[in-house]
Amino acid sequence: MKSTKDIKEQYIEKSMLEYAARGLDFCQFCGKKYNVGERIPRILVHCGHTFCTDCLNKIHKRNRIRCPLCTKLIKNIETAEKLPLNMNILYEVIQKDNILAEVEFDFENENEMADKLCERHEDRIKHFYCSNHQTIFCRECIRDDHTDSECFVVDLYEIQKMRDLQKQNMYKNSEQLDKLAKSEAKASCN
Ligand SMILES: [Zn+2]
Ligand SMILES: [Zn+2]
Ligand SMILES: [Zn+2]
Ligand SMILES: [Zn+2]
Repeated sequence: MKSTKDIKEQYIEKSMLEYAARGLDFCQFCGKKYNVGERIPRILVHCGHTFCTDCLNKIHKRNRIRCPLCTKLIKNIETAEKLPLNMNILYEVIQKDNILAEVEFDFENENEMADKLCERHEDRIKHFYCSNHQTIFCRECIRDDHTDSECFVVDLYEIQKMRDLQKQNMYKNSEQLDKLAKSEAKASCN
């Protein structure tokens, strides 16, 4: 008999594979891989299609964005950055990134947190990531090394929050599927 944990893990694994098979981690406009930087994935709220922020910035004209796939028009939008992030895709991007997938902040664990201190800036925890340099560093380092226009810095605490939430949701969904399967099995017995 399979334990609930196995079922949960299978469910998560399955959804990962589906993403990979469909190639959802590529922007359909520029054909480039989404990242946690200038190509962060955003949803066109009127039609639900997703593109990278870089492309959305390019097609954003006079406060309007026309979807390149279905031509639906969004009016009165100041910048592409106002569009919501596609969290599902972003989660995939992070899980597939060698550096970001490894990042975990365990605030309870003092030793582990001590490992995350910046070598150059005393008492500063390295919790920022730059998609240009692909390194992890502290807040002080941003000023020193990442003011380039190519640099796109994200706060890893935010990413950790997002991943925790996503994981919780996946478990919740798999539990719901579980319940559904059980009630269906019961119904078919009667
Ligand atoms: Zn793109
Ligand atoms: Zn569309
Ligand atoms: Zn530093
Ligand atoms: Zn940088």
